[in-house]
Parts: sequence; structure tokens; C-alpha cells
Amino acid sequence: MRAWVVDRPGPMASRPLALVEREVPEPGPGEVLVRVEACGVCRTDLHLAEGDLRPRRPRTTPGHQAVGRVEGTGERVGVAWLRSTCGRCRYCVRGMENLCPHSTYTGWDADGGFAEYLVAPADYVYPLPGEPPAERLAPLLCAGIIGYRALARCDLPPGGRLGIYGFGASAHLTAQAAIAQGATVHAVSRSADSRRLALELGAASAGDRPPEPLDSAILFAPVGTLVPPALEALDRGGTLAVAGIHLTDIPALDYDRHLFQERTLRSVTANTRADGRAYLELALAHPPRVTTTAYPFEEADRALADLAADRVNGAAVLVLS
Ligand SMILES: [Zn+2]
Ligand SMILES: [Zn+2]
Repeated sequence: MRAWVVDRPGPMASRPLALVEREVPEPGPGEVLVRVEACGVCRTDLHLAEGDLRPRRPRTTPGHQAVGRVEGTGERVGVAWLRSTCGRCRYCVRGMENLCPHSTYTGWDADGGFAEYLVAPADYVYPLPGEPPAERLAPLLCAGIIGYRALARCDLPPGGRLGIYGFGASAHLTAQAAIAQGATVHAVSRSADSRRLALELGAASAGDRPPEPLDSAILFAPVGTLVPPALEALDRGGTLAVAGIHLTDIPALDYDRHLFQERTLRSVTANTRADGRAYLELALAHPPRVTTTAYPFEEADRALADLAADRVNGAAVLVLS
């Protein structure tokens, strides 16, 4: 089979990825072999390619939003970021398996979906319906699920004012979920295409800064310098959730300007399977408008380069023929 691997982590201009030929992997006990139809491209894949996240093993295949068919049964499934947890630690037994210190991740600890096949533990894949195009389902698996958890973590009150900083794949799905709940959404993005998309999806504003104080905000851009202004833009009692796995350094905060009046800064760490199931149930019952930019499988490195340069409208997806 053909598979992309992170060959030498570094800037996209140095071509960190390589397309290689490999044996089709053998599923172990409790695992399924999935023939990939499409795989979403996430900022985390970019962090792994560029070395912002340290590789956990050499020459790993990235990709953790894979839609495909289980070999043998033909069942359609989604393979997402959370690959396994221990099930026994204090976090797992508390229902916080996203914090399990022994958790493993698709495309980081094990080969992911930028390949014609991948194996995954059967207990961690999500059943998906057979009809929708794989390209439309793939972005739900990380962009959708992580955005859903970030929305829960930012404590948005009913009918509240939500700021979304950075308007890419995850943000465009999260904005729709929030608007469906009655929120007023303000998008903050430097990209003209993203601003246009935000307004088309029902955002009340899209610009350099929110036009009113916010009850809640989610920072999707991996840019630590946005944390102080995003905190400052919160109303009293507001919460800012940082959605990404990687963030550049946060500048010093001024207690009075950025935190006092019970403003809260919190992170979002992966997701539980319960988050995944809840989001997919919602998204399949009330399908969001999924804006995708499709790339042929052979052009995974171009997809990541476009993501690095903020040239992707909505979600980038690799489509296998
Ligand atoms: Zn992701
Ligand atoms: Zn655990």
C-alpha cells in the first residue's frame, strides 16, 4: 500500500513528508483493519510534520480523521485522534479518559490515515452511516469532535456571546453548533475567505476584534499572543478555552486587564469517546454545512503546506480513489 510518513520533521518548505510503499498492516487482537476512503487534515498533523510536537516513533503516518470500511465486514467507521486509554487510572475511572497518562493517539503513537489502510482498536472507532460522502464525514472526526469539547469547556451561557479566534476547520463546525444553540458568534480571523465563510454560516461579525464583550471564547489559532487580547475581550465572569494541542508562548498577563473579575483561562485536551459519540450523533442528526477543500491522496504535502499558510477554506481532506 501507499502511505505518507513524517520522514524528517521540519518546516513544510523542507518537505518533511515522504510517500512510501509499505506492507498492509496486520490487525492485532481487538483491532480492525480499515481501508481508508478519505482522511481529514488537521493542524495537529502539521505540528507533527513540522516538529512542534515531538515524534513518538520514527516515520509515522499522520492523519486522525479517517473514514473507511472495515476489511471483512464492510462496516463504515471513523478513526479519530484518541486511539486507546488504560481504562484503570484515576482519570479513566472518573470519566476523564482524555486525561489518561497512558493514552495513545492515531497518527502519533501509531500509524494514521494518510495511507490506503490503517489498523485501529475496535473499541475506539466510531460507526458511521454508509451514504454520506467520506469527504464530508472526515472533518467531523477531529475538527468537529474537538470543537464540540471546546464549546463545552468555554461555559457558554444560553443565548451567550461567543468569540471564535481563528476560523478554520474546527471553528467553522463549532460556530454552527453554537449558533444552533442560540449563541451570538463573533469570528476573529485575519483571512478574508474565513471571514466570509463565518458570515455565511451566520456569525454576527467577522473581523479583527469582537464588537462587544464576550461571555465565552475559543482560541483555535495556535498563537499565544492572542491570549491576552482574547482575555481582555471577555466580559466579567467570561471563559477563554484554548482548543489546540500546541500554542506558541503566552506573553505575560496583567492581572487587572486580563484575569480579574473572575475571567477564566482553560485548556482543552483531546476528547473522550463519550464526547465523540455525542458530537457525531448531533452532527449526523442535524448535519452541519461542511466546507471542505479536497486534495488527491498524492498531494498530502501540498494540503499541509496550504494549511500552514492559511490557504485552506474550511477543512482540508485527502481523498483516496
Ligand atoms: Zn486533529
Ligand atoms: Zn487511564
